[in-house]
Parts: sequence; C-alpha cells; structure tokens
Amino acid sequence: MLMRPKILVIGSLNMDLVVQAKRTPERGETILGEEIHFIPGGKGANQAVALARLGAETMMIGAVGPDSFGRDLLKALERDGVDISGVKILDKGTTGVASILLAGGDNSIVVVPGANSQCLPQDLNQQEEKIKEADLIVLQLEIPLQTVEYAVKLAKKWGKPVLLNPAPAQTLPITLLQQIDYITPNRSELALLAEIGHSSALEEEMDRLLDLGVSNCITTLGAEGAAFKAKGEKLCFIEGHKVPVVDTTGAGDAFNGGLAYALAVKMTLTEAMKFAGKVSALAVTKFGAQGGMPTLKEVQEYFG
Ligand code: ATP
Repeated sequence: MLMRPKILVIGSLNMDLVVQAKRTPERGETILGEEIHFIPGGKGANQAVALARLGAETMMIGAVGPDSFGRDLLKALERDGVDISGVKILDKGTTGVASILLAGGDNSIVVVPGANSQCLPQDLNQQEEKIKEADLIVLQLEIPLQTVEYAVKLAKKWGKPVLLNPAPAQTLPITLLQQIDYITPNRSELALLAEIGHSSALEEEMDRLLDLGVSNCITTLGAEGAAFKAKGEKLCFIEGHKVPVVDTTGAGDAFNGGLAYALAVKMTLTEAMKFAGKVSALAVTKFGAQGGMPTLKEVQEYFG
C-alpha cells in the first residue's frame, strides 16, 4: 500500500459569504441580517483540504484574484499543508465568491466565478510536472470545461487515473466521459449526465455512463450512502452512517476527498467507497465545508 499518495486537484477556490437573516427580503426590500461568516470554499479547495487532512501530499492548480479573499483562501490551504505553487494570482479581477443567504431554513446562493474562469488550459502547460508527479488527478466543474478537458488529456498522456466530480451539474461531451476512470455525481447530476429523458432507475442511469465509456460510476445518495458500479460488474451500495448531523455543506467534497485518497493508496473500489462514506459522515458532524474535513486519525478513532 502506498503510504503517502501524491494527489493533484485542479479546480475552484471561492470565498463563501454566508449571511443569516430571519427571512428572505422581498424584491426591492432591505432588511437587517443577523450574522455574516466568511468561509473558505470552492469544490476544488474543499477537496484539496479533505485530501491534505487525510495525509495525502496534495497539490492544487487554480486561480484567485489580487484581493484579500484570495490571500485568505491561499492561507487556509497552506495551513492544511496544500502545495499552492500552482495557484495563479491574477493581476486584476476578483476571487470567486459564493454569496449565500440562509433565511428561515431556506437558502439562496449566487456564485460569481471570478478568477476561477481564468484557470485556463495554458496554465496547465506550465504545471505539467505536477501532473507527471501525481498518483491521481481530481477535477470538478467549477473551472472552464476546456481546462477540465485539457487536464484529462494531459493526465492520459502521462498515464494518470482521473476522478471527476461532475458538479455543478452540466452535460458533458462523450469524448471527455470516455477518458474518466471514476465519475462521482450525486443523484441529480447523474440524471442530467445520463440524459435518458424520462424518469429512470438509478442503475439504468449509471449503466448509461458506463456505456458511454466511463470506467467506474459512483453515485452519492446523501444520508442513504452511495452506489457504485464498475464496467461489467454488479451494482453495489454502501449504507450511510447514522451520525449527529450539524452541517451537510461539503459532504460531497469530503466524499470525493476520501474516495480519491483511498484509491490513491490502492484500496479496492469497495474499500475506497466504505472509507469515503466514513470521511463524509464525519464531515457532516461539524460546521463548515473545509472546517468539517476530518483527519485520518479522526476517521480511525471514530469508526475503530
Ligand atoms: P453537497 O453538495 O452538500 O456537498 P452532494 O449532493 O454532492 O453534497 P451527497 O450525496 O449529499 O453529496 O453526500 C455525499 C456523501 O456524504 C454521501 O454519499 C454520504 O456518504 C455522506 N452524507 C451526506 N449526508 C449525510 C448524512 N446526513 N449522514 C451521513 N452521511 C451523509
């Protein structure tokens, strides 16, 4: 078993501005809120933190703006030991921001990608050494699709496995899907990707992705756990763990971090799924996406 895997995350960094208020304002109305939190986020950065906490040597490629949010996001990654030398600091523009209003149990979110949309294919040429060194490449869809496609092309050039978390949901070209070793949609992302066009069964949709050329399809099912199927194999499930839930933000990111770590240390897919289930269950017992990511020791202590 590889003791300290080297994993490269190519993806987004966002500052989440979380405003709490008693209710959502009416159109044109101003109301007083109760609290505001500035929380480091972005699926790429969250997954990088999850990996680093578990003990992977983690490298990140992405982009931030020349502002205090960007500096804070990079500091947060550095504190967790993520190699940020591949994160570009732009001369102008703004760091990605997710503006989240939590009001009476509802939430509304506006995401401004900002610098994330400047994470470009040519940046990967300068960072090709990192792709060459990595045991596994982890991607999501919060940076331009052409960058994701180019990252997969370079990963395949160097014979590296690719894990794609296809979030936020969007349809993807078959030429991309054909090169993906592990795809990890949640239920609604799977439905969109499979494009079957009528309400269909989970396995039918997963088979569709496998038929299109993905090697392993993993679907997360929230508190119920997750399903997985490799090409030519049976559909399998891992059950969700019953835990005291505090905040499910970033559950998917924790799952992806756990899965990527486990695959990179050469666990079987079944073992890796169980491990990812534990990591993500622990993550929902704490507040915040990055804040909730557990260490390997915490996972081992909690689940024995
Ligand atoms: P998010 O967008 O909130 O990060 P997601 O939709 O990408 O989440 P989910 O399917 O909701 O992903 O959750 C990912 C994994 O996290 C699940 O497969 C499960 O292992 C774990 N998980 C999520 N919610 C719970 C819960 N309430 N209790 C235990 N485990 C959970």
